[in-house]
Amino acid sequence: MNILGTCDLAVVGGGASGLMCAFTAASEGCSVVVLDGNRQAGRKLRITGKGRGNVTNRCTVDDFMKNIPGDGRFLYSALNRFSPEDTISFFEENGVPLKTERGSRVFPVSDNANDLADCLFRLCREAGVRFLRTRADSILLTDSAVSAVHTAEGTVNCRAAALCTGGLSYPLTGSDGAGYVIARSLGHRVTDLRPSLVPLESDDPWCAQLQGFSLKNVTLRAYEDEKLVYRELGEMLFTHFGVSGPLVLSASAHMRRFGSSRYRLEIDLKPGLDEDRLDARILRDFSASPNKQLVNILPGLVGRSMTPVVLQLSGVDGSLPAHDLTAEKRGSLRRLLKAFPVSVRGTRPVEEAIVTSGGVSTKEVNPRTMESKLVKGLYFAGEILDLDAYTGGFNLQIAWSTGRVAGESAGKQLKEGDL
Ligand SMILES: Cc1cc2nc3c(=O)[nH]c(=O)nc-3n(C[C@H](O)[C@H](O)[C@H](O)COP(=O)(O)OP(=O)(O)OC[C@H]3O[C@@H](n4cnc5c(N)ncnc54)[C@H](O)[C@@H]3O)c2cc1C
Repeated sequence: MNILGTCDLAVVGGGASGLMCAFTAASEGCSVVVLDGNRQAGRKLRITGKGRGNVTNRCTVDDFMKNIPGDGRFLYSALNRFSPEDTISFFEENGVPLKTERGSRVFPVSDNANDLADCLFRLCREAGVRFLRTRADSILLTDSAVSAVHTAEGTVNCRAAALCTGGLSYPLTGSDGAGYVIARSLGHRVTDLRPSLVPLESDDPWCAQLQGFSLKNVTLRAYEDEKLVYRELGEMLFTHFGVSGPLVLSASAHMRRFGSSRYRLEIDLKPGLDEDRLDARILRDFSASPNKQLVNILPGLVGRSMTPVVLQLSGVDGSLPAHDLTAEKRGSLRRLLKAFPVSVRGTRPVEEAIVTSGGVSTKEVNPRTMESKLVKGLYFAGEILDLDAYTGGFNLQIAWSTGRVAGESAGKQLKEGDL
């Protein structure tokens, strides 16, 4: 068998968590090899935050937990070990000044996510990490402990391996789910894999009719059966398949039971006005031009693109002059503007999602070390784990914290000769 190299720790995947893990273990004095099929390290990291890199969220660990759907307790130890504040200090001390924006989202001052990836890559190189441009297909064990990583070109002999292969989303970045196959082959359970932070599909014909039309300063409400599960002010847009944009992606993270639950959305197109004030505004607009056709007045209220859809859904005849609008029809219009309906058929495929929900079961991973409870010398970090969060920099922070802990504990165990 062709031997590609020998090292203490082989890190499979050179994304956010893999680079952090590799640098940390190398700083502990271990020899580290990173395997990744990509020509450039941190390919997904470079496109995060629309290329601006929302690197973390400046918040306490308790507030962080509120941004993890489901049970985030597994992360307590890792977040306390390497917190959002630690991430901020880490990048700033290593030459990437950061700034905090609305919602405590933290970005490089340069607005350039490449700076994050370049920084980590440089630190890895300086710490002596070797990079191999190849993909792992399996991890080999000797006496139930990690002994090598196998690739199509040969093997890398190692005493420990960290699986940092990410999820299933945006597979062109290299995260195509191969790590789950490797984890399963080693006996690990992988929970259901589903898209999260993903656009939503709708059967409503008006979505396609409005495709490309974006809404700013609207409130989106999402209902699971009839329970309100999400409500937020922001931006969204209509597409040929349904709806997308920041509000929709965030709402999707609260929709985790397609199949057993029904979901629907409501858009408050006028969140700044309660029903009475909106009624007064409609009356004012309409009485200013009593003889004008409604179809020509409504654009002032909802925009030209939405006018035909609003007329159709409210059952108002657009050819009527404003003074002919009955109080009843005005009520329909008002209710529609406060609760524009969008039914939800499902999500777009996981390949179009920002993150994958589900992954290697955290029950089989030690939360203090990120080491497998099943295989000696095997570590996990990042999105491959059954962990995900809402938008705001939380997903990258999961990668930093788990990568840091995996690198530290592998490094420590290797130094102490435990592996
Ligand atoms: C468009 C987009 C924007 C995002 N923006 C943000 C944001 O602003 N803030 C935020 O917090 N999160 C954001 N995320 C989520 C965040 O990028 C991920 O959660 C994070 O990158 C996960 O890190 P990771 O190291 O686990 O995986 P990745 O960064 O996906 O890295 C995994 C690496 O493993 C490699 N790999 C896979 N299989 C193999 C194999 N068999 N052998 C060798 N290598 C392999 C891949 O090539 C890849 O380089 C965004 C995601 C997307 C898609």
